[in-house]
Amino acid sequence: MSKVLIIGAGGVGTVVVHKVAQNADVFTEIVLASRTRSKCDAIAAEIQKRYGVRITTDQVDADQVSELVALFRRHQPKLVINVALPYQDLAIMDACLQTGVNYLDTANYEPKDEAHFEYSWQWAYHDRFKEAGLTAILGCGFDPGQTGVYTAYAAKHYFDEMHYLDIVDCNAGDHHHAFATNFNPEINIREITQNGRYYQDGKWVTTGPLEIHQPLNYPEIGPKESYLLYHEELESLVKNYPTIKRARFWMTFGQEYLTHLRVIQNIGMARIDEVEYNGVKIVPLQFLKAVLPNPGDLGENYTGYTSIGCRIRGVRNGQPKTLYVYNNCSHQAAYEETGMQGVSYTTGVPAMTGAYMFLTGKWKGAGVFNVEEFDPDPFMEKVAASGLLWHVIEDGDLEL
Ligand code: NDP
Repeated sequence: MSKVLIIGAGGVGTVVVHKVAQNADVFTEIVLASRTRSKCDAIAAEIQKRYGVRITTDQVDADQVSELVALFRRHQPKLVINVALPYQDLAIMDACLQTGVNYLDTANYEPKDEAHFEYSWQWAYHDRFKEAGLTAILGCGFDPGQTGVYTAYAAKHYFDEMHYLDIVDCNAGDHHHAFATNFNPEINIREITQNGRYYQDGKWVTTGPLEIHQPLNYPEIGPKESYLLYHEELESLVKNYPTIKRARFWMTFGQEYLTHLRVIQNIGMARIDEVEYNGVKIVPLQFLKAVLPNPGDLGENYTGYTSIGCRIRGVRNGQPKTLYVYNNCSHQAAYEETGMQGVSYTTGVPAMTGAYMFLTGKWKGAGVFNVEEFDPDPFMEKVAASGLLWHVIEDGDLEL
């Protein structure tokens, strides 16, 4: 019997619930809790209708450790899948330690009042999880998540040493809105407006926001302008693969998106500090989130594909070698299956897969881990069977 508790009833949470319900032989009991219980109830009703699987729902403010502890004691899950926001990571990990529950998330901790993310806060829990005999799996979405598993798979099967790693993330979809973000707008805009950063010869190099860009070719999509960003998996991958000399992350943006983003910043709507409006304190970026399209509602008219993968250069048997491992995901197919668009889908499927790995004993260990520290093979098999087929191009032109 493996009871799982999912926290967060947003776009990603909805996909995770569909996917665990499709694997009810392993996820024998499913609980969904979020800040707004009615959202959990609506998802549970849909799951019951589609798969005949019963989901228990509950309410929690996941910023409050005491509420989380009470929730975990009420339901006693074996594993919690945290797909709320990065702000809640540490509170949920604290509650896991207090109640003896294992942990998995898809985004690393970020304080609300500072647009800054790094693993140090969560890696600091390693000894406590280890002593408690508990497992915490960090960053198990697509990027981070699947990209770390792709890198581990490349290291295991294709390289003696990896030297250059470029993670490329293309969304070639069209949601038919002038401006919308594909996941939580607050988290998304905070991420994109930060300085860029990449790793080169043992040091981190900082760039201006979206300063470095170039067109890259994506399979079955074609060339798309791609922008260098800092992304959290770079931090763990260069630590876990010390032969890497350079690691970068690229993401595509359309001109329309970038123009809106520039205006949002120029008029102060990307600010994360409080301003007073009519006697009420509001955070402009949080207000903006309230008026932007909800990422969870984008799916219906979303066409096109996402294309995300790892382009790696290194050596095998003394010879230079290149590898590109990637997935293309159809927004429409994701919507037909789960009611959510491809970005939520590509995050939720690896989250379920990581949980499946843990509950079936294929990924185990006491402490706090990034996904590339586990065996990639069973994950690669299960994630492909669960909707995210992957492809390998050996010794092709990586462009990077
Ligand atoms: P959404 O905003 O759609 O959903 C977030 C959910 O979390 C909402 O349902 C919300 O509550 C709930 N929530 C927020 N705060 C709290 C709180 N204090 N207590 C309880 N519940 C809370 O976001 P997404 O589904 O798009 O993203 C979810 C996570 O996935 C984020 O952390 C995001 O960074 C991550 N992500 C990771 C990716 C990857 O590839 N690794 C890619 C995309 C996203 P409510 O019930 O009020 O709606």
